[in-house]
Amino acid sequence: MELPRIEPYKIKMVEPVNFSTREDRERWIREADYNLFNLKSDQVIVDLLTDSGTGAMSQQQWAEMMLGDEAYAGAASYFKLKEAVSEILGFPFFLPTHQGRAAENVLFQTLLGHDAPDQVIPGNSHFDTTKGHIEFRHAKPLDVTIAEAFDTTLEHPFKGNLDLGRLEAALREYGPARIPLVLVTVTCNSSGGQPVSLENLRGVRELCSRHGVRLFLDAARFAENAYFIKTREPGCADRSVREIVREMFSLADGFTMSAKKDGIVNIGGLLGFRDEELFRRCCTFNIVFEGYITYGGLAGRDLGALAQGLRESTEFDYLEARVGQVAHLGRRLRELDIPVQWPIGGHAVFVDAKKFLPHIPQAEYPAQLLGVELYLEAGVRGVEIGTLLADRDPVTREDRYPALELLRLAIPRRVYNLQHMEYIAAGLKNVWDRRDSIKRGFGIAWEAPIMRHFTVRLHRL
Ligand SMILES: *Cc1c(COP(=O)(O)O)cnc(C)c1O
Repeated sequence: MELPRIEPYKIKMVEPVNFSTREDRERWIREADYNLFNLKSDQVIVDLLTDSGTGAMSQQQWAEMMLGDEAYAGAASYFKLKEAVSEILGFPFFLPTHQGRAAENVLFQTLLGHDAPDQVIPGNSHFDTTKGHIEFRHAKPLDVTIAEAFDTTLEHPFKGNLDLGRLEAALREYGPARIPLVLVTVTCNSSGGQPVSLENLRGVRELCSRHGVRLFLDAARFAENAYFIKTREPGCADRSVREIVREMFSLADGFTMSAKKDGIVNIGGLLGFRDEELFRRCCTFNIVFEGYITYGGLAGRDLGALAQGLRESTEFDYLEARVGQVAHLGRRLRELDIPVQWPIGGHAVFVDAKKFLPHIPQAEYPAQLLGVELYLEAGVRGVEIGTLLADRDPVTREDRYPALELLRLAIPRRVYNLQHMEYIAAGLKNVWDRRDSIKRGFGIAWEAPIMRHFTVRLHRL
């Protein structure tokens, strides 16, 4: 009998799960104004709100926490991180930041200032904080993801790809004077954790070079993207994950990274550059916003843990277990006829709420409704990637209805096991079986002017 592949680690520290009843959860979600972000974590049984900063660090990472020194400038752990950034990502210049959006803040403040209404930043479905940082400075994020990404049933190996024709048209229309950078998110979170192929990245690079525009990666899930390239892209099967990572980064002029994802740390971010002049300009804002350039809002120990995390997340066995666990959940849901974004992404399963609850109009936030129903059913917390997240149009103040209305079930790294995946699937199946009895969605009681999903207060219609 063939031995199954198993996770390349075992557990030596555990955190208890707080169980609850449906009555408890009815009360808690009401008190939380039907916003899953407002729940306390001990009111949740399986927490799939995010894979950000929620991973389990390894014993080597904890050892780095002890070994890291806390010098304000030039800590030993900074140099360990510098070595990892150089060796694994191939970048000569970088700044540590306290998380990914902080790297975005430093970069966009440097490139856009605080009012850049004529600037356009093309990319593949920008992440919400990225979009926030761009729009906050009155610039325009332009989504040029391939059309295939918006059909959840379509089989396509690289739904994170950019439409090169549309990108070229944008580069022609606006030119380098109005495009400070093209930003490619790997894997593309907003379109379902979908990867970008090397071929596509090379094409983007070629276009950017031809038009004299910088190419940056939003590299939060760079290792998962490399895993998909290795396992899906013709000619890449025999290359190591590390080699693929090096090629991905070699195509970019810089990157922002939330290290809370594939860095497998609980807090941290990076901003990388090839151009020393841009690095120098960003240093000033890093010092203003984050901290000195060798710690950037982190403690010395965090830098050591991140250096180690970059090494661990680029190991094939780890990635196979990681991406495989997410795929297992996705396949189970598909077997149960539950509509999910296909193929399954690297860090999360995305349930198609428009197909799950077709009778709920987008104006009543069906993906949010599905998230609340799953929480009530099983104490599983996902997150809405839909109309609430899409915010209002900055000019008309109307709701912006995205093509996809998704409930994201993000799986933290090295935290849950296969039985947890079975539990999630059973919970969702129970909601599926009673979907016709779910009649109405939500109205908004209060919302913030931007990035409203984090703090919105809802009421049942
Ligand atoms: C998480 C994330 C960010 C923002 O990073 P934080 O660490 O949460 O501030 C930016 N881009 C992508 C693709 C992300 O997933």
